[in-house]
Amino acid sequence: MELWRLTVHEAHELLKRREISATELTKAVLERISQVDGKVQAFLTVTDELALKMAEDADRRFASGEGITPLTGIPIAIKDNMCTKGVRTTCASKILHNFVPPYDATVVAKLKEAGAVFIGKTNMDEFAMGSSTEFSGFFPTHNPWDLSRVPGGSSGGSAAAVAAGECLAALGSDTGGSIRQPAAFCGVVGLKPTYGRVSRYGLVAFASSLDQIGPMTRDVTDCALLLNAIAGHDPMDSTSIPQPVPDYTQALVADVKGMRIGLPREYFGDGIDLQVAAIVQQAAERLAQAGAELVEVSLPTTEYALAAYYIIAPAEASSNLARYDGVQYGYRAPVADDIVAMYCRTRKEGFGHEVKHRIMLGTYTLSAGYYEAYYLRAARVRTLIRRDFERAFERCDVLLTPTSPVPPFRLGERTDDPLLMKMSDICTIPANMAGLPAISVPCGFLDGLPVGVQFIGKVLDEMTLLRVAFTYEQLSGYRNLLAPIG
Ligand code: GLN
Repeated sequence: MELWRLTVHEAHELLKRREISATELTKAVLERISQVDGKVQAFLTVTDELALKMAEDADRRFASGEGITPLTGIPIAIKDNMCTKGVRTTCASKILHNFVPPYDATVVAKLKEAGAVFIGKTNMDEFAMGSSTEFSGFFPTHNPWDLSRVPGGSSGGSAAAVAAGECLAALGSDTGGSIRQPAAFCGVVGLKPTYGRVSRYGLVAFASSLDQIGPMTRDVTDCALLLNAIAGHDPMDSTSIPQPVPDYTQALVADVKGMRIGLPREYFGDGIDLQVAAIVQQAAERLAQAGAELVEVSLPTTEYALAAYYIIAPAEASSNLARYDGVQYGYRAPVADDIVAMYCRTRKEGFGHEVKHRIMLGTYTLSAGYYEAYYLRAARVRTLIRRDFERAFERCDVLLTPTSPVPPFRLGERTDDPLLMKMSDICTIPANMAGLPAISVPCGFLDGLPVGVQFIGKVLDEMTLLRVAFTYEQLSGYRNLLAPIG
């Protein structure tokens, strides 16, 4: 048996019955990485020694029968913007190329406690700014379904690693779609939880009012298991929600009878590839056949969401990224006459083009005289977006849309067209602006490339999302889709 093909819950059953060991499983995954990662390039760092040590610890837990959780001994990859104590955390930026955090992000600490095995840190767009992983400061990641195409972004390394069997599951982060869009492009499941459901402590900040960490997995069951492990209030993150965490596996019920599923008309029209829209529409019809009620709704402010996002996110980024000055972290320009020259050179040499572009945009829109015209207006649009959703949710329990307006595009195809690149996120950004949970699950293929359907839920209603996603997964049979590579 090729152990890397197992989902988290399948592997757990075998580990529990002691039919396989965590060490065997980890070795199989490391072997798989050495076979395929030369082509996929999903990892910035493979932590093989640490993984084997953690696997031994997990095996000790199984031997003693103590401290066993559904994630014990499971090889998991972590996006390289989450701090891992003693393990390089670069955000795929030259400016952090040598940064080794002295502490663990809360999600990382929680996975450690659960006994998970850390297999490595995954590639991403620099500081999570991008939609294709081509803006990594080091190298692009390739889509394992077609190596000439992008895996999506910014969590492209995590998505590609899950789809290529280079880990059993991964963590990603999502500010405007960075978990869901790459999940859709790579044929995996990706969940962005409600803003505040998962702690952001130790997640390197991009746009703090939008950032959220979530699971990327090969099926919906695994997604619920990971969410169980990482969700919850954290005193170290003042925006984390002080609410108890339900057992998300309780949502894994294949039944949508009477559930009202809203189809927002703006997500099936302009700017959406017709073939993608048709496949996603079929997914809705499948759920209707299973007893759900389809309701047409409207989210009219959607058309302004992208523009408002590109005011708010860069504004927050320009402030968050001010800390990279060559003094406290990472890269420092070697030659400079004085301290100001040192700051300037460090930032000039350390940041990539896209990051500089965002810092300039953000600094401009926050500057005196422009703040009201741009930032304040964008904040108002954000309120309107939230109200749109509230109104829609009076008529339905969950919304169904495409995850990405287009199938995975070719490497290089959009790098010179910033607007086209940013259009990749038109379906995902509104949920971030409103702080709502949303999940992408595979729903078909176009010319051999995966297409994803997105479900958007009410605040803290991850349960309904997981239930509809699980039901759809049972109906469609699209689960544990491994890319044909290797
Ligand atoms: N693609 C969007 C951006 O470039 C979203 C990125 C993300 O969610 N981190 O900002």
